[in-house]
Amino acid sequence: MSRTKKTDVKGLQAGLLGWFDRHRRVMPWRAAKGKRANPYHVWLSEIMLQQTTVVTVGPYFMKFIGLWPTVGDLAAAKLDDVLTAWAGLGYYARARNLHKCAQVVTSLHGGRFPADEQALLELPGIGPYSAAAIASIAFDRPAVAVDGNVERVVSRFLNIEEPLPQSKPAIRDGAALLAAGNPRPGDFTQAFMELGATVCTPRKPRCGLCPWQQDCKARKAGNAEELPRKLPKKAKPAKFGKVYWISNAKGQVMIQKRTDKGLYEGMYQLPTTAWLTDKKAAAGLGLDFLKGKGAKALGASVKHSFTHFDLSLEIWQYSGRATKLPAGGIWVYPDELASYALPSLMQKAARLAAGTAG
Ligand code: SF4
Repeated sequence: MSRTKKTDVKGLQAGLLGWFDRHRRVMPWRAAKGKRANPYHVWLSEIMLQQTTVVTVGPYFMKFIGLWPTVGDLAAAKLDDVLTAWAGLGYYARARNLHKCAQVVTSLHGGRFPADEQALLELPGIGPYSAAAIASIAFDRPAVAVDGNVERVVSRFLNIEEPLPQSKPAIRDGAALLAAGNPRPGDFTQAFMELGATVCTPRKPRCGLCPWQQDCKARKAGNAEELPRKLPKKAKPAKFGKVYWISNAKGQVMIQKRTDKGLYEGMYQLPTTAWLTDKKAAAGLGLDFLKGKGAKALGASVKHSFTHFDLSLEIWQYSGRATKLPAGGIWVYPDELASYALPSLMQKAARLAAGTAG
């Protein structure tokens, strides 16, 4: 990286590490200053923190280490229980991979995470970012973990005007040079991310508190808040469908385990129609196993934004006789729903339906 002189890098590293020593946040998975991190805790938190925030992850992390104190305990758990404990965190493929990864670490590595970035990359659910984060934070190995926070800090520090994602290689190179040869790789990785999360924030960066303010190019140029630039997002297609609150004479409701591969695999749902891009066609759909009339729209709907489409499900109630269970269907009492792995979308539909159905 020609934009920052090599001789300056040591000073920048010392400045960032000193700042981190003074301002590091306490997190349930973070080792106390000077203590060794627990690789199981680091791995679990890194997988949970993808796509969500520290505040959201805290209670989930505590629940997991309470239920499964070691990676071996998690490996021995039933997948259903792992999915139930994960319910609400989203991106459920991660929970399935988490379980698989725990099993591989237990069976192939004797219950100890490998310290090497390449060996970590071979484990289920661990990509380049997670491998670098775990190698450095858990094992103090030199590795450069570039998350969204680090992307923002580097784009600004070097005033990289090129938009994401094209600027990723330049950002990676910049991050690698800023981290090269630092004396405390685990702390440096966390400090870099922490700077982005707490000082170099997306809006109104607090440059006056930043250990790198003297050398920051975007601060000098006055365009920090505009960086990193991003190419406009493509509009996502919309999909539509119906979800059903079906109750029996005992006051139980029907839920159904999804067996098909892909989205929400292995999770439970309220019975739902297919999800179609054609809104009119979706409005004409029903569930084959519901006989006769008795279904009515409750006038409420739930929306969810998936990676590749936005979904809107109308909530319907069925009060006719529903004696035949569809494949994967079971009857449960409404207060038992929390013991099943229902994604947030379905939890929300159930809450809305329970409030309005009657
Ligand atoms: S000086 Fe401001 S813009 Fe530059 S890295 Fe620090 S907080 Fe970010």
